[in-house]
Amino acid sequence: MSDSPGDGKLELKQASKDVKESENVAEKYSAMTVTKNSEMGIGDIAGVPAAFTPVAGHKPVKKQIQFADDKQEFSRFPTKTGRRSLSRSISQSSTDSQGSAASYTDSSDDETSPRDKTQANSKGNSDFCVKNIKQGEFGRREIEIAEQDMSSLISLRKRAQGEKPLAGAKIVGCTHITAQTAVLIETLVVLGAQCRWTACNIYSTQNEVAAALSEAGVAVFAWKGESEDDFWWCIDRCVNMEGWQPNMILDDGGDLTHWVYKKYPNVFKKIRGIVEESVTGVHRLYQLSKAGKLCVPAMNVNDSVTKQKFDNLYCCRESILDGLKRTTDVMFGGKQVVVCGYGEVGKGCCAALKALGSIVCVTEIDPICALQACMDGFRVVKLNEVIRQVDVVITCTGNKNVVTREQLDRMKNGCIVCNMGHSNTEIDVVSLRTPELTWERVRSQVDHVIWPDGKRVVLLAEGRLLNLSCSTVPTFVLSITATTQALALIELYNAPEGRYKQDVYLLPKKMDEYVASLHLPTFDAHLTELSDEQAKYLGLNKNGPFKPNYYRY
Ligand code: NAD
Repeated sequence: MSDSPGDGKLELKQASKDVKESENVAEKYSAMTVTKNSEMGIGDIAGVPAAFTPVAGHKPVKKQIQFADDKQEFSRFPTKTGRRSLSRSISQSSTDSQGSAASYTDSSDDETSPRDKTQANSKGNSDFCVKNIKQGEFGRREIEIAEQDMSSLISLRKRAQGEKPLAGAKIVGCTHITAQTAVLIETLVVLGAQCRWTACNIYSTQNEVAAALSEAGVAVFAWKGESEDDFWWCIDRCVNMEGWQPNMILDDGGDLTHWVYKKYPNVFKKIRGIVEESVTGVHRLYQLSKAGKLCVPAMNVNDSVTKQKFDNLYCCRESILDGLKRTTDVMFGGKQVVVCGYGEVGKGCCAALKALGSIVCVTEIDPICALQACMDGFRVVKLNEVIRQVDVVITCTGNKNVVTREQLDRMKNGCIVCNMGHSNTEIDVVSLRTPELTWERVRSQVDHVIWPDGKRVVLLAEGRLLNLSCSTVPTFVLSITATTQALALIELYNAPEGRYKQDVYLLPKKMDEYVASLHLPTFDAHLTELSDEQAKYLGLNKNGPFKPNYYRY
């Protein structure tokens, strides 16, 4: 199953252009302070819009639960073992990788399934299922490290100043369970929510973090290395709790939404909204919306400007080096590298490698991106022109078969091949599974593919995303996503009846700006304020939004 939203992505892009914020919403933008309001929403707590605009083209549907024949929308869902969401929250601890090697406790050889254990936290509470509750202290330290680079969430806690914008919220969440997510969950709790949480990936849970959360009273059902059956069991334990019914969903990939949809459709009667993080999950929500089967408002946090920019450009700029270094110990200086695709991800990869002295060239199909590459000092070539000389090939196109078997045949001995773009389609890895080639596992996520003449190509992560498979993702990037998620939850939970229909909503620019502004103090960055005269001259509200929706940054 692909992560690609295909046409849906185009639709999203188009839709985001069409988003218009109503003028009276702009009126509501206040300075970024907390105001006391019985209908406290984002606009109130955060100085961001009190209402979002639904995506054009998605008509509100009747408010009714329509789950009986839901199978098509969700039957194509990938399983946990097959899918890696592209969402950043993911990431870092991508599982079968060295990425979560930060864990103190993964070396435990306790083979007993957590489902067969009876555990209780120090307060005697046993409403959780984690690998080992005793690991909580280590997890707490991990969370504290993450908090240092997630100061926007900490400041959100402070800005609430005792207000509980999520009082009464019962959030069921399905995300990667890592130190960074823990900071988000604990922020939601400080803001008044009750949370039950499960993992969106069977490998990515940091066991000690799950233990720390359970010790702190959050009902977590997750451990690293769950089976497929465990995965759905954990989701079910989160949702199916006597005397407790969720009223908000925070999902990363859509599996939780899928489960509730199929098994507990009545739960949707109480759900005030879904916040979805991943490309895949968002795509499914749009499909539901199109089919008239989305029965609650949903917030697409994947397509906010700050997330896209930080995720694709800055995150890849940092993690390409990490992924290559961990897998191959390669020296970057003087290496000849070809980067396929000069979009956001490609630009990030090129910038990082150039900075370390690599000789980088670029392939592109789009003359605009090609010209950008030229302006940035990269030679633009066809892959076939350089394939015999290059030391490293990196794909970042979102396309398929960008590196073909023929090109793999022509690479020089020792050439490193990896993918930073889409899923596992960019390099034709399947074509390498032929009898004349020998595969040798060198280390986790590193294979030598050996040709009959002895030539070796070093294939990383079997052509899957290098950084998600083999490196960590900067906490700061996850902070941006987590802040957006928290604000989206607050808004949906507090929105008065009728503000949101059964539709998918994009985050308005004003909210993106607010998320960015929460991160500026980290750098002691000081914004210049528009004078009245300047604001009038530019036709802007002094408090933003500062750019039209079509602005590309
Ligand atoms: P983008 O659309 O900005 O850039 C892709 C570029 O590749 C475009 O400029 C396009 O013209 C070019 N391209 C397409 N086919 C090509 C081909 N055959 N040869 C050469 N160039 C080609 O997209 P982006 O934001 O850079 O994302 C690229 C991919 O990376 C997407 O699949 C995205 O989902 C994925 N992604 C990965 C990560 C990660 O952490 N690794 C993060 C975000 C996004």
